[in-house]
Amino acid sequence: MAKQVKEIDLIIVGGGPAGLTAAIYASRARLDMLLLEDKVMGGQVRNSYTVENYPGFKKVAGSELADIMQQQAEELGATIEEFDIIENVKLDGEEKIVETEEFIYKPKALIIATGASPRKLPIRNEEKFAGKGVHYCAVCDGAMYQNKVIGIVGGGNTALEEAIFLTNFAEKVYLIRRYDYFRGEKAVLEEVEKNEKIEILYNEDLIAVDGEDFVEKGIIKNTITGEEKEIALEAVFGSIGHEPMVNLFKEYINISKGQYIITDENMRTNIPGVYAIGDVREKEYRQITTAVADGTIAALEAEKYIKKLNK
Ligand SMILES: Cc1cc2nc3c(=O)[nH]c(=O)nc-3n(C[C@H](O)[C@H](O)[C@H](O)COP(=O)(O)OP(=O)(O)OC[C@H]3O[C@@H](n4cnc5c(N)ncnc54)[C@H](O)[C@@H]3O)c2cc1C
Repeated sequence: MAKQVKEIDLIIVGGGPAGLTAAIYASRARLDMLLLEDKVMGGQVRNSYTVENYPGFKKVAGSELADIMQQQAEELGATIEEFDIIENVKLDGEEKIVETEEFIYKPKALIIATGASPRKLPIRNEEKFAGKGVHYCAVCDGAMYQNKVIGIVGGGNTALEEAIFLTNFAEKVYLIRRYDYFRGEKAVLEEVEKNEKIEILYNEDLIAVDGEDFVEKGIIKNTITGEEKEIALEAVFGSIGHEPMVNLFKEYINISKGQYIITDENMRTNIPGVYAIGDVREKEYRQITTAVADGTIAALEAEKYIKKLNK
């Protein structure tokens, strides 16, 4: 069956805080808009155990914050399609095209808010044990490891926070760090150090996991002496950063060395009417507050752009 063609003012791709903020502003501007999310709504925030640095909320579960943002956007009139996969995008012709399984959308403006996804651990057997002891989201998968020994690899705030979170379930958590310092906040590190269930393994690199059907052990290599040793563990969580989700767009859009989308301070990309916001954008700080700021600016810019086109 031929796909239905739909002309529309604005398409927002990605339903994290950046995309949802853009949806809130676009709805209030009465734009004919659609937000497409290929997974569950909320983005990375949904995986955050608690958020304590989003103004207005002293302490809120990430999933609750995501739900409130979505509810707010929908109550203001935003149209949201969850679990809708974009098959193709064309941004080089007269018209912009966003093609899903059912529709060919022709938006006047496009906001890319696809965020980032966790970087895979560069360890032996990563693929073999993916989901069977190798994980990337403590909030999503941590509860599977009640009273087990878990490893977590990373050096930033997320790794520190996830180590603390995993002690809710695990008997013991190894926090594996290839250097002798952490990049995360001092206050969080102090909390980790006080936690009796966490053992920090400084100057150690996790190089492999192994087992029968599920992970049963990890192999760590000392980054100073080169000595390798086995540790018994039933799961390992990777927390070594994120990769921007740019594949659909990189044929058309200018991308930085680190694969992030390059914009000006008004979120404009190299293509008129195409904006990029949030964690997918080249910038210094990637937080909820910075994502929502980007979303605000892009939606206001898109509104201006569409009004001009309509004149
Ligand atoms: C565990 C964890 C804890 C965190 N804690 C905090 C915190 O306490 N405070 C703070 O400020 N920040 C925190 N952050 C960072 C914060 O969550 C991010 O900076 C923020 O979510 C970025 O928002 P975003 O909308 O740009 O991207 P994301 O949140 O990454 O959302 C992008 C969305 O786009 C979707 N998407 C991707 N590709 C496509 C596609 N092709 N089609 C359709 N949809 C697509 C994704 O599924 C996702 O839902 C945390 C992050 C993590 C992982």
